[in-house]
Amino acid sequence: MASIVVIDHPIILRIAALAVDKGASAYVVGGYVRDALMGRARSDVDITIVGDAVDFARQVANLFNSKAVVYERFGTAMVPIGDMHVEFVGTRREEYHANSRKPVVTMGTLDDDLRRRDFTVNAMAASLAPETLGHVVDLFGGQADLADGVLRTPLDPVITMSDDPLRMMRAARFAAQLGFRIDADTERAITDMADRIGIISQERITDEFLKILGAPLPSIGLKVLFQTGLLKHILPEVHALAGVDLVAVGNREYRHKDVFLHTLQVVDNVAKVSNNVWLRLATLMHDVAKPKTKRFVEGTGWTFHGHEDVGARWQEKIFRRMKLPMDHLDYVQRLVRLHQRPMMLVDEGVTDSAIRRLAVAAGEALDDLFVLCKADVTTKNPRLAERYTRNYDVVKAKVDAVAERDQLRSFQSPLRGEEIMSITGLPPSRTIGYIKWMIEEAILEGDIPNDVTAAKNYMLANVDQWVAQAETAHFQRRG
Ligand code: ATP
Ligand code: MG
Repeated sequence: MASIVVIDHPIILRIAALAVDKGASAYVVGGYVRDALMGRARSDVDITIVGDAVDFARQVANLFNSKAVVYERFGTAMVPIGDMHVEFVGTRREEYHANSRKPVVTMGTLDDDLRRRDFTVNAMAASLAPETLGHVVDLFGGQADLADGVLRTPLDPVITMSDDPLRMMRAARFAAQLGFRIDADTERAITDMADRIGIISQERITDEFLKILGAPLPSIGLKVLFQTGLLKHILPEVHALAGVDLVAVGNREYRHKDVFLHTLQVVDNVAKVSNNVWLRLATLMHDVAKPKTKRFVEGTGWTFHGHEDVGARWQEKIFRRMKLPMDHLDYVQRLVRLHQRPMMLVDEGVTDSAIRRLAVAAGEALDDLFVLCKADVTTKNPRLAERYTRNYDVVKAKVDAVAERDQLRSFQSPLRGEEIMSITGLPPSRTIGYIKWMIEEAILEGDIPNDVTAAKNYMLANVDQWVAQAETAHFQRRG
């Protein structure tokens, strides 16, 4: 009972016609077939050529006035056509012989291609030959697994996973993206060899990790990573969030919540309202230093004093280790460092100064900070949840009003360094930085408004005193 997927994309049809011209046998494979069968839209397509894929890709590139990007070592090529990426793979059979480490590569068949794929649902092909256009080749029960929502390897999972341990991460990724469960044997194989992820390049790991965070419910993939032990290898700090401590005082027991499970819930909450993967990452990290800062204080209970600062400080080493793009570091750090702050501003009597300082410290991340805070409300008590959420809305409205009034969105002193130098006649020095800082502090404290004239007058009235202090002054923004 062969299924058929509709192949009507004009680019794919032209490639199919070219294959007929050249006497090549071509199939659409992998994710494209899977998504077509699931009715998911997609833009990229992978094509398997029985024979020399690189040569065929060059001819396709010619036909579309494009250029093939060739990966000689793998015998694959990518041709960009409009906003579509068309990937060409050749069927190859690699055989290892007793007295040689190098494989003998022969042309191979479609079967050889499909058995080397990661999961049965990704190991289906659809013919591009005119007489069988769209006929699905399914050698490993991919359609049945698709219907059941199961990820299973085409070969013995131990073999599939050893051949490329990245597939362990991919299992977690597809589980999250597709909402599928992982077949028990496959999951056991992953658990048994989780440490082999160590041989995979960080770039490939991080790629899959970010796709997990980008999924509709990232918790599904993160749970797989945790349960199989992969998380311990790729992100030990997050792995360490799991578990509950218990202290008995007299005949009462005190336990804190499981920070890992709480974090997963907060990440899912954020994912429901934002696709920003860096906000999701910051959310995953927001309580990351809780285990490190955990104390039991009699009379108070469990405390995690300073976890937000420690967690923020850890981000740089985590970013470097994960090879995450450093231009997102500052944003993630701000969110982790500030995630407790809005809660402290709920009080009626909170000063404008505290509000201004939060707005300036958060900068561009201000709106996302409140998305994180509201997502962090995970109490099961609906009345409490509603009260907390309302509190955040009130604080947000206050912050917005003050930030708007005082033009704090990309705050810096209304007098630039050069202006300070030309007005005072002082040379470039630490003193200039100190003067600038004193002006900014006065604005944040509400002593003067955020404008040039006020700043100039204030500076002229105080500059002699500041020059005298500058040598010994400590100046650093108080958060
Ligand atoms: P996406 O929609 O995220 O692109 P995809 O299924 O197309 O999903 P890709 O990573 O683009 O995933 O890979 C395309 C196809 O190539 C997969 O469907 C799978 O058949 C195969 N594949 C990719 N990477 C591997 C791997 N590491 N091991 C085995 N097969 C793989
Ligand atoms: Mg793809």
